[in-house]
Amino acid sequence: MAHTGSFIDGEWITPDSSKTIRNINPADTTEVIAEFPAAGREETLRAIEAAKKAYSSWRSVPAPERGRFIARAVEIARKRIDEIAETITREEGKILAEARGETLKGINVLEYYAGAGFRLGGKTLPSEVPNTATYTIRQPLGVAGLITPWNFPWAIPCWKIAPALVAGNTVVFKPASSTPATATILIEILIEAGIPSGVLNMVVGSGSDVGKTIVEHPDVPLLSFTGSNDVGSALYESGSRKGAKVTCEMGGKNPLVALADADVEKAAKAVIAGAFGSTGQRCTATSRLIVHPSIKEKMLEIICEKARTMVIGNGLDPKTEMGPSVDENQFNTVLNYIEIGKKEGAKLLVGGEKAVDAGNGYFVQPTVFDGVTRDMRIFQEEIFGPVLSVVEAETLEEAIDLANDVKYGLTSSIFTSDINAAMKFVEEVHSGMTHVNEPTIGGEAQLPFGGVKATGVGDREMAEEGINFFTELKTVFINYAPTGERSMIR
Ligand code: NAP
Repeated sequence: MAHTGSFIDGEWITPDSSKTIRNINPADTTEVIAEFPAAGREETLRAIEAAKKAYSSWRSVPAPERGRFIARAVEIARKRIDEIAETITREEGKILAEARGETLKGINVLEYYAGAGFRLGGKTLPSEVPNTATYTIRQPLGVAGLITPWNFPWAIPCWKIAPALVAGNTVVFKPASSTPATATILIEILIEAGIPSGVLNMVVGSGSDVGKTIVEHPDVPLLSFTGSNDVGSALYESGSRKGAKVTCEMGGKNPLVALADADVEKAAKAVIAGAFGSTGQRCTATSRLIVHPSIKEKMLEIICEKARTMVIGNGLDPKTEMGPSVDENQFNTVLNYIEIGKKEGAKLLVGGEKAVDAGNGYFVQPTVFDGVTRDMRIFQEEIFGPVLSVVEAETLEEAIDLANDVKYGLTSSIFTSDINAAMKFVEEVHSGMTHVNEPTIGGEAQLPFGGVKATGVGDREMAEEGINFFTELKTVFINYAPTGERSMIR
């Protein structure tokens, strides 16, 4: 990363601000990775103006050609994989193997959208009127405001910026304040790939300042947000009020159901990956295990043994299996939820404390609560930390009912060897994504990503749906009847 400013109208700028975003390593809070002078309303307005100005020439670049800029970015990104992964680990905390996985996932997404320009078509349909051609085309809308969270600081910006640009929009991007360094590398790569001035702008500053300005600006007709429910719901309200097209992907409280006939070892490993992987800081994390009493003891034995022995520490150390919470705020939120769980009467099986031996960072022990009931807050609310709530279900119906009894609906999983049970679960569980015999986590570039209920509003992300969000459909009617021929009134 060579820059620590904002990128506006083709230039790296250093905002003239007394406010600074201090980028701190959550695994070693004495390490300041970089200090970004915070941009504010004025810089955001300049970025929106630049994007607005660049729009008409960018939209007239043929779509396959727009895709080629992304294809070049793929090649450049591949040469910087190690640097990207290391930066993710240093500023977000996830272990290097996970950071590398995220880096490759983001590159896959770029690769997918590099080709999307060739497929940016509509449909041709027959008209009821003779001598008439009818079809649809997909067109860009203008300036896209993209606001992203810290937990996937590389992949999420990739899956918003690439489709927005290939569709022909220009972009004002606001990364999370905790993770501006990874975002900066992505911008450096896209600029090196040749994206013209003004087409792509990044403003590093606070949500309440930069984010709010983007959301409320009348010249930003597209808003794509990923983050918490509180911020997302308010953003959806203001965005829709001004008539913008808005998509919000928000929190999750994802269940993994293990029926009596589940492969116990495989299911336990999936819970470990889903609950403690990325320190539980995935929107797709497994935060509830709904398990049949006959296999509960065996499953919990495997899960708790792993939780007890997990190597917690700095993710740059190859021996580390789980990193820290991203910052002090998140760390305190997780510890607070653990206290809530204890007070609510759930049975703490393992963890429940700061991981004091892990180092000078925001480390929490992997934690498992048994005896959780559906009215408890640790069953209902997103914790965003390595905390698993366990509840029993005697039947498939009871398991589905428990799975669905929360406000969220991002992802879910069932472990069973009964195809009928699996299919019933797929049909009836309230989630935008569902897995059978695999963890709740994961996604692929070509598959739509997103949730239902309080998790998501607006179009799904990634895949073809990502392009659909960043375009508007136009229906075209062309009458080529010779003059004088009787025409039909529709
Ligand atoms: P957050 O606090 O809502 O922040 C998300 C983004 O919104 C950040 O860039 C933030 O800026 C910005 N923001 C804050 N206040 C704003 C405002 N008033 N107007 C406009 N923008 C504003 O969320 P987070 O803590 O970064 O991320 C964790 C959440 O994201 C979890 O709930 C997780 O489940 C969710 N998530 C969902 C998905 C999904 O696909 N469903 C994927 C990943 C994460 P600052 O950083 O400057 O505050």
